[in-house]
Amino acid sequence: MAQLTPLLSAEEIEAKVAAVAREISRDYKDSDLVLVGVLNGAFIFMADLARSIENSVAVDFIRVSSYGSSDTSSGEHKLTKPLELDIEGKDVIIVEDIVDSGLTMKFLTDYFQTLSPRSVEICAMIDKSERREMPVDIKYACFRVPEGFLVGYGLDFDEKYRSLPGIYTLQP
Ligand code: 5GP
Ligand code: MG
Ligand code: MG
Repeated sequence: MAQLTPLLSAEEIEAKVAAVAREISRDYKDSDLVLVGVLNGAFIFMADLARSIENSVAVDFIRVSSYGSSDTSSGEHKLTKPLELDIEGKDVIIVEDIVDSGLTMKFLTDYFQTLSPRSVEICAMIDKSERREMPVDIKYACFRVPEGFLVGYGLDFDEKYRSLPGIYTLQP
């Protein structure tokens, strides 16, 4: 039986997301901001973050598949849902659930640069640093967690546990 150990409560997440949203509201006060969520894991984080940012923001989603084992990503990525908004000249924040190896973010930031935005930054719910292979400049991170496989608040294992309001460590 898989075992779930509580790591972050819904209340802790709510407070941290609100604090990060305040920073973003301040940093992008007079800007044309586009939030781009990475499906599926970031969908709940995106909804909470977008509603806490004071300025009006545009919202879009992309989806990336990577080949390799299910809990790590290999170096090969493909966009399975492209961006639909035109981001030329816009300030973009990529909203991601977890930055782990960093390979997905490297792929995405390279892709976004080809679309001529004014700026691209990363906002991650979790910065999981222990397995980092590619340096990633994460401008906004709600939580830094060294290791472990996390579920809840949008994060799944085999499509399970996404709808849990808190974040848990999953032990096999
Ligand atoms: P990367 O290794 O490319 O930085 O991360 C790839 C993706 O793997 C993350 O965006 C996330 O969707 C998934 N991932 C990495 N660590 C975890 C984890 O602890 N739990 C879950 N559910 N997904 C993870
Ligand atoms: Mg992800
Ligand atoms: Mg997943």
